[in-house]
Amino acid sequence: MAERVIPLVDQRSRALTPPVPAPGAAERATGELFDTRARPLRDLRISVTDRCNFRCGYCMPKEVFDKHYRYLPHSDLLSFEEITRVARLFMAHGVHKIRLTGGEPLLRKNLERLVEQLAALPTVDGRAPDLTLTTNGSILARKARALKDAGLSRVTVSLDSLDDAVFRRMNDMDFPVADVLAGIEAAQAAGLERIKVNMVVKRGTNDHEITAMARRFRGTGITLRFIEYMDVGATNGWRMDEVLPSSEVIARLQAELPLVPLAASTPGETAKRWGWAGADGRHDPALGEVGVISSVTQAFCGDCNRARLSTEGRLYLCLFASQGWDLRTLLRGGATDAQLEAAIAAIWRQRSDRYSELRASLPPEAGGGGRRIEMSYIGG
Ligand code: SAM
Ligand code: SF4
Ligand code: SF4
Repeated sequence: MAERVIPLVDQRSRALTPPVPAPGAAERATGELFDTRARPLRDLRISVTDRCNFRCGYCMPKEVFDKHYRYLPHSDLLSFEEITRVARLFMAHGVHKIRLTGGEPLLRKNLERLVEQLAALPTVDGRAPDLTLTTNGSILARKARALKDAGLSRVTVSLDSLDDAVFRRMNDMDFPVADVLAGIEAAQAAGLERIKVNMVVKRGTNDHEITAMARRFRGTGITLRFIEYMDVGATNGWRMDEVLPSSEVIARLQAELPLVPLAASTPGETAKRWGWAGADGRHDPALGEVGVISSVTQAFCGDCNRARLSTEGRLYLCLFASQGWDLRTLLRGGATDAQLEAAIAAIWRQRSDRYSELRASLPPEAGGGGRRIEMSYIGG
């Protein structure tokens, strides 16, 4: 077997300086902001911690994230007040959807307080944001009620297998699957809506679980989404032969249960939707749907409207970016709201990222290799 080499470069140090206009010269947000490819800014993903209690091999492999790994000190993390301020300014630019992520977001102390603050922010059309959270579900059973009460609209739980042995191996912390399933049930019981379950499919590791997962969630109101194993970060030793293309996921499901393609529900949606068909061959809403996220085999950069805020306040314009814009220095250096809004606008307007579209043609030194930030640092 080829030796696996894991580069240990800490990409967190690569920061870009945002352009800041003079006080008074800054234009205010209009609710519509477009990048160089005419993509609007609609979705903000906020990482609230770089820590996690799992060691999924595709994200935080134990060999790298061991006891010597240096996580960010607490003073480097954006405070809840700083996060809320940035989120408010992003919403003035047209963001409707906010997703909290990590690391494992539920490890951040008193996260409900942040949820409460974010839920109270208005979108440009005066509504509450679509506020959601991606979690590994390990402590969701304890937290679901408080999160719902604080104003969380919905939740996505990552779950790669129903088989306890496979699940324990994949989280690499011997964590039992029953606790995550209990977390999903608690989320349902708490009244969180449109619950999604994300399964990263790795060929040869958990692809034999695809149909069992589909059967488990069919007809439950929960949408299962299959995610292609991605070449994010620099530590997971990604190999194309471990990617199971979404087309194959759908073919395997259809061999057992009928599915029909569904239209996208919103522009910029990452998942392609498929509905479970009833006896008449048409989508039966009572059976629900599944989604496939084909980040590797079918690029969806064309309408990518997502920005990502790292735990320490860097703004990343693509999941595969190698540098982020340092908003924290502005926040802590006394920048006014108008200056911050203008800086965000200038950053988004120059955005041209479309890594997935270019993946196949990129030489390693241009981003196809090991120079990217980790998923656990900016979240999914
Ligand atoms: N800890 C939380 C969780 O696991 O849900 C939130 C952070 S995690 C980085 C966000 C999502 O990214 C998860 O659904 C996870 O499965 C996914 N993810 C991480 N590494 C990935 C990879 N290499 N390929 C595809 N998805 C990945
Ligand atoms: Fe932790 Fe989520 Fe990454 Fe797994 S995918 S190691 S649960 S941050
Ligand atoms: Fe968006 Fe970058 Fe993913 Fe393309 S590769 S869809 S630009 S995050």
